[in-house]
Amino acid sequence: MEKNRTLMQYFEWYTKPEDRLWIKANKNANYLQAIGITDIWLPPAYKAAGGKYNAGYAVYDLYDLGEFNQKGSIETKYGTKDEYIEAIKELHNKNIKVYADIVLNHKIGADEPETVYASEEEKQNRNIDTTLPKKIEAWTKYNFEARNNKYSSFKWNYTHFNGTDWDESGRKNGIFRFSGKHWDKNVDNENGNYDYLMGADIDFNNSEVVEELKTWGKWYLETTNVDGFRLDAVKHIKSDFMADWIKTMREIKQLQCVGEYWSRDINNLKKYIEKTNSTIPLFDVPLHYNLYDASNSKGNYDMSKILENTLVKENPNLAVTFVDNHDTEPGQALFSYVQEWFKPLAYSIILLRKYGMPCVFYGDYYGIPSQNVNAMSDKLDKIIKARQYFAYGEEIDYFNDFNIIAWVRTGDEEHIDSGLVAIMSDGPGGGKTINVGKNLANTVFYDYTGNVKETVYVDNEGNGIFYCNGGSVSIWVKKGNIYN
Ligand code: CA
Repeated sequence: MEKNRTLMQYFEWYTKPEDRLWIKANKNANYLQAIGITDIWLPPAYKAAGGKYNAGYAVYDLYDLGEFNQKGSIETKYGTKDEYIEAIKELHNKNIKVYADIVLNHKIGADEPETVYASEEEKQNRNIDTTLPKKIEAWTKYNFEARNNKYSSFKWNYTHFNGTDWDESGRKNGIFRFSGKHWDKNVDNENGNYDYLMGADIDFNNSEVVEELKTWGKWYLETTNVDGFRLDAVKHIKSDFMADWIKTMREIKQLQCVGEYWSRDINNLKKYIEKTNSTIPLFDVPLHYNLYDASNSKGNYDMSKILENTLVKENPNLAVTFVDNHDTEPGQALFSYVQEWFKPLAYSIILLRKYGMPCVFYGDYYGIPSQNVNAMSDKLDKIIKARQYFAYGEEIDYFNDFNIIAWVRTGDEEHIDSGLVAIMSDGPGGGKTINVGKNLANTVFYDYTGNVKETVYVDNEGNGIFYCNGGSVSIWVKKGNIYN
């Protein structure tokens, strides 16, 4: 019997080196399986500039998974290579699939600067040069001395990049495009051309780079045995490179993947999906912003429109739905943290619907101590369980009210006692007459969340009146089900 899958993002921005995340994941594999987690996204595992104090996105050496004394330590923020591999093995023992976080857009923390000719670009329109080519000192030479050619003798230099943001000789910040290079096409067109994000921007038109990253990807798969990839910053990476890279990796093994294309404009996501031939599912960023807006609307959000212009609505099979992540949490660059009162509603929307691969955020589950965000594990456990036990069968929407929306999952034969009614309001509470279908006719329902204490009787026709409290969600399931 196939159960619904649930992905967990297993870190938050302020996860500390002392947390020993790889060891924690290893120890908690059993627990994660028990609560219904089937897939886990682990943070970047390679050495970053800033060593163990960096979250991992400032990639220094893709081959150093916490094995070499580089950037001030052997281990990364999350632990050593051996601890990473052991954690993956243990997660596999518990039938949990592991996604690696893949950061290919840029490199940071070069060992030496190089003299390069470069033109400065206008920040808001990177198609416009503001200077003629001039000599700058760019941090682009990577020697990886402590690794000493183990796994790869490839050494990055300025020819492998197309620009950077720092001139060491002039001690000047800017966006510098190296002479003879152009920004990669097929990237997001915000700021004229959004190829450049940070650090030394990798040039995906360079055939040595393309070969090296494929070689590395194969090595990574063989070394770690991960089952999938979370692809960082894909809006800044040439889309045809990304599609080709994933295709090459999938020739080695079947891989899940999800791209981070950070745009709340559904059209940008659709364009990317088209350009990559529907091979790369994306995080549903527009849905995240709808949830964020709803949580900030003090009950005045039109809940009937909560799925408008989202990926899960427009392209349901390629949507990875989420409520928050390490970039949207308090104190971070894309701060847009869904308010606490709305979180159970938001999680019900991603976990209990038919489409979208839902991703539960570590910071929501375990809390974010440094930002005084409380753990919501008790509430989330219930909703994840409701997904695992009851969220099967057809989906019938009752998105016909400004405040109160609901949907039915009719249940299916394969999952005994499955089926549910999710009903929620961002404003006042209330009820709705809902038809749950023939399978669940003549049944008593109770609220699995415990928010509403009364039971609901469904008549011979399958009709019942279901309730929720104000600013709250109720998840109605069959009373006396096999999971009680
Ligand atoms: Ca780029």
